[in-house]
Amino acid sequence: MTAPSSAVPSYPAQGTKIRYENDRMVVPDEPLIGYVEGDGIGVDITPVCLNICDRAVERAYGGRRRIRWVELFLGEKAASRFGGDYFPKATLEAMQDLVVSIKGPLTTPIGGGFRSLNVSLRQELDLFACVRPVRYYRGVPSPLREPEKVDVVLFRENTEDVYAGIEYAAGTPENEKLTRLLRDEFHARFFDGSALGIKPMSAFGSKRLIRKAIRYALDHGRRSVTLVHKGNIMKYTEGAFRQWGYDLAREEFSDSVVTEDEVQSRHGGRVPEGKIVLKDRIADIMFQMMLLRPDEFDVIATPNLNGDYLSDAVAAEVGGVGIAPGANMSDRVAVFEATHGTAPKHAGKNIVNPGSLLFSMVMLLEHIGWTEAAEAIRRAYERTVVDGVVTYDFARLKPGSKEVSTSAFGDAVCERLER
Ligand code: NAD
Repeated sequence: MTAPSSAVPSYPAQGTKIRYENDRMVVPDEPLIGYVEGDGIGVDITPVCLNICDRAVERAYGGRRRIRWVELFLGEKAASRFGGDYFPKATLEAMQDLVVSIKGPLTTPIGGGFRSLNVSLRQELDLFACVRPVRYYRGVPSPLREPEKVDVVLFRENTEDVYAGIEYAAGTPENEKLTRLLRDEFHARFFDGSALGIKPMSAFGSKRLIRKAIRYALDHGRRSVTLVHKGNIMKYTEGAFRQWGYDLAREEFSDSVVTEDEVQSRHGGRVPEGKIVLKDRIADIMFQMMLLRPDEFDVIATPNLNGDYLSDAVAAEVGGVGIAPGANMSDRVAVFEATHGTAPKHAGKNIVNPGSLLFSMVMLLEHIGWTEAAEAIRRAYERTVVDGVVTYDFARLKPGSKEVSTSAFGDAVCERLER
């Protein structure tokens, strides 16, 4: 295949774009879906996952449905082909146009003018929700005694909070100006020479994230949504996130959501039939609860920084970042992604675990409503691991297992799809 001369993708003629009609996603039988191979171990995991997905779709729908993949370029592969451009505008436009895409990990270019390609992508496409389902698969090594009790979906706000990038290094003129304002006009007290960062959190940003989490819980038959915040300390940011969550439930979901307090005060401690419960927990206790009583939690909505820590900690309970999937979403555009990085020391060696990208593919299939294919991959993955066929990272945690390469693991999953 010859390399394309521009990052503008050419769409396969047989495919049709996914589109929205009256706020509903319409998925054709041969949808065009974008993929970015990714840097580092992207070359190892992406082809394996595309192949498993194609085989699962073929098996589930007997040739009636088929994904028409469109290669998109970001990161090092883009830079090497398109004159050093790590972040081609054409790729962003295609991700918007195609509505659904999946990406491998990306290296952040040193000195390239980006804080991170991933952060830029989220900002440019306004992918405000980072969605991370975390559940246990039989056979996967876990540090918990009862890992099967973990089955949560985390919604992390992606655009605000201390990640907004409003920071002023100590000693800069901007810092000194802000220091004077804070001290002179607001009587704020802090050490001389402090670096300053600002934590913006809005009703708009919080509510759209919590709305997405509540809708997900309702659409997927979940029992509860928990707001995780640090409102006991940061009252006007994290505390407001909590309050905006309860306000939203009252304003928009009063017929389908009850609060934990209402369950006690109005419903005798029982959740009314067909309703979900909205509750909140302080972030530090949540880390304990997710270890001690994970089955009390279901869908979780949380601001950016809490979500960053919590999603990796919860993923570690059931297999770690090697298999944790994720997606970044706006109300329309969804970009599914491996949650780990490019693991450069393993790149091109065909040894790493494709699980994270594979389960992101499973999320993608569920997102477009192709649940039979998604379920087929889940079952085949579980059978493969239960049979003791694993990549190096699991092999060292699972005595007696057989260590195989990334591609051999992919073949083993495909074989089990066929049975
Ligand atoms: P990393 O996730 O790439 O690697 C950390 C370690 O985790 C690896 O050394 C490896 O032991 C293990 N690991 C990661 N993925 C694995 C897999 N699929 N199978 C088995 N083991 C796996 O994190 P890092 O080393 O901090 O970052 C490397 C690069 O990746 C940096 O340039 C960073 O900016 C980038 N990064 C990208 C993303 C993303 O694209 N979403 C996320 C995190 C880091």
